[in-house]
Amino acid sequence: MTQMLINGTKTDAVNKLTIDVIDPSDGKVFTTIPRGGQQDVDHAVTAARAALNGDWGKLAAFERGRLLNRLGQKVLEHQEELSRLESRDTGKPISTARGDIGVLARYFEFYGGGADKVHGQTIPFLNDYSVELVREPLGVTAHIIPWNYPAQMFGRSVAPALAMGNAVVVKPAEDACLSILRVAELAMEVGFPAGAVNIVTGLGEEAGAALSSHPDINFISFTGSNEVGTLIQQSAAVNAVKCVLELGGKSAHVVFDDVNVELAIPAIVKGIVHNTGQTCTAGSRLLLQKGVHDTFLKALAEAFSQTRAGTPDMDLTCGPVINKSQWERINRYIQKGTEEGLEVVAQGQIADDVPEGGFFVTPTIFGARNHDSELLMHEIFGPVLVVVPFDTEEEAIATANATEYGLMAAVWSENGGCQQRVARAMQAGQVYINSFGAGGGVELPFGGVKKSGHGREKGFIALEEMSTTKTIVHYHGQAGIRS
Ligand code: NAD
Repeated sequence: MTQMLINGTKTDAVNKLTIDVIDPSDGKVFTTIPRGGQQDVDHAVTAARAALNGDWGKLAAFERGRLLNRLGQKVLEHQEELSRLESRDTGKPISTARGDIGVLARYFEFYGGGADKVHGQTIPFLNDYSVELVREPLGVTAHIIPWNYPAQMFGRSVAPALAMGNAVVVKPAEDACLSILRVAELAMEVGFPAGAVNIVTGLGEEAGAALSSHPDINFISFTGSNEVGTLIQQSAAVNAVKCVLELGGKSAHVVFDDVNVELAIPAIVKGIVHNTGQTCTAGSRLLLQKGVHDTFLKALAEAFSQTRAGTPDMDLTCGPVINKSQWERINRYIQKGTEEGLEVVAQGQIADDVPEGGFFVTPTIFGARNHDSELLMHEIFGPVLVVVPFDTEEEAIATANATEYGLMAAVWSENGGCQQRVARAMQAGQVYINSFGAGGGVELPFGGVKKSGHGREKGFIALEEMSTTKTIVHYHGQAGIRS
């Protein structure tokens, strides 16, 4: 049985209830986690507040940075153990999990280095006044994390918050939280004071709702679905706290006739099958200019048909998806594509010897003739790519922007003018030119426009998001004398 962490102590839920943790490779229960609720959240928020007013709040910025750096080092020392935990819990191929844990360590290193490099400002004002802007922590920050990249999302959300001196309460996803619980233990080992990092496991509608609506939190970072994101923003509004929302996506590749095919094909395949398509930035739409359409699609189909789904230890292209309901959802979309009359351009395979009961899906590319397919509009969150042809640059931009989402996009062309025009016209928080996503992108500001959310994480900008500015105005003139 795995316990949560409140005020530096490993603990069960007050109500002693638990949630079964299921191995996505065989559908069987392999451990349990506490089903925390309102009382556990209250304890965690109280502990975080006490840490802010106590040992944690007294640390200098460089001391917080040092702790984060130590944690990054500790994560690397435990990389194999954490990777095994993450892959068992989520179904990720083991090499994908190893990559994720490496990125987790990078978050602690990056923000550990940044903790003492956020400087204030001075402002020229009236004579005899000095004005300083100082950055201060927000206070108790709440972090609600999804199951698709538990370790990475934990680092992305929590590391900048700690760097700026906030005390954190984290509600990981009920489907996958074991790596987070272990990293929180490691945080205690490297010397984070009790209460600086608290983890409450539980169901979204119980522990998650209790945390996001808690009257004593000062900020919410949420990554997950649009439906829950709406609820989070409502809770934030009631308590007048700031929130950062990272929601869904339907990212488009726009491929022009002068594409570098050798560069593009592996990136486009990886962009949709990596993490079994369960990535908010997954490149799930491919817009192909008509001159290159047929030859490009043939080469893409050849590469894509090599993709294989298997268990984490088989370490193939994909693992199983996280749970039965996601498995049913993705298969419903594949069925829908067939019913809509979309052409199956290519399919990967499920390895022969996967265990029975695992949530494996067949990676699939559909070809669409027009733009109104449901599969082109909805986030599928699985290894399903939809291809659609276009004639002109204007048409490509209009099609790329014709979803409610705006998270990531890519333009594939050798023409500098075209690259810039399209990159600037696409409605997305990040646009790649001749590549798609890169090495975790810890340093690169990330977030959405439109229904993909608001606020920015990653990069230095996250340190601003997770702190507030105080303006201190100092009058140093003398009574009756104007300088
Ligand atoms: P989800 O919204 O169901 O769950 C996310 C988290 O919210 C979990 O910890 C869950 O327990 C919690 N939660 C659920 N109901 C809640 C409630 N009423 N109050 C408070 N918390 C609650 O999403 P999911 O199924 O875990 O993830 C899939 C979705 O997340 C996809 O749409 C995907 O695009 C999106 N996502 C976005 C990003 C990003 O960075 N933009 C990253 C990963 C996933």
